[in-house]
Amino acid sequence: MRKIGIMGGTFNPIHVGHLMLAQWAMEEQDLDEIWFIPTGYSYMKEEQNVVSPEDRFQMVLLAVADNDRMCCLDVEIKREGYTYSYETIEQLKKEYPEDEFYFIFGADCLFAIETWRCPEKIFANCRVIAAGRGGASEKQMREKIEELEVKYGADIIMMPFPSLAISSTLIRERVREGKNVRYLVPDLVADYIEGKRFYENEG
Ligand code: ATP
Ligand code: MG
Repeated sequence: MRKIGIMGGTFNPIHVGHLMLAQWAMEEQDLDEIWFIPTGYSYMKEEQNVVSPEDRFQMVLLAVADNDRMCCLDVEIKREGYTYSYETIEQLKKEYPEDEFYFIFGADCLFAIETWRCPEKIFANCRVIAAGRGGASEKQMREKIEELEVKYGADIIMMPFPSLAISSTLIRERVREGKNVRYLVPDLVADYIEGKRFYENEG
């Protein structure tokens, strides 16, 4: 049985916060591998100016290319219509019944998960690793975790994580302002963004 960490997200674009979170979870929870799963069209981010699923997928591929314990799956970008995390987890459970899946979250997702489609099906098929992220205190997180455990029988591991105030939103803003995002994203990703002129003229 392998222990596999799932990093879901829009990754618009992937940044060092995502990569550090993935590596941290692998070390702290003894995971064997991390699978990044970029979303297809997300019903929650419809209004935002999101680059195509294929390009977000490409950027994640570039970011993990040099790490043989990390990979990127195209299951969500290939699915028709909107993508829901619970469907992905159910599909993985079916395809890899021997493996144990850990869904890795920043704190913002912990507080948002009840607004997602079928959170109970997510909790039924995997454990969750919740990492701190600016905006939520450890106490607030622990209370939320307890609430979700009681309500859904969820199995949530609270993972202390050094606070990194880095987000894709920040990267997009800095590119728009003509600033260099080197060291905020892997070099290959910075080159890809520049080559395709992403985020330069967003409203
Ligand atoms: P955006 O600003 O566009 O929302 P984001 O940086 O939040 O982008 P997402 O793709 O929305 O990135 O998030 C994917 C996952 O990574 C989520 O679980 C999110 O909580 C987590 N995450 C992203 N950045 C960090 C960070 N700096 N620290 C901890 N978790 C993070
Ligand atoms: Mg986000």
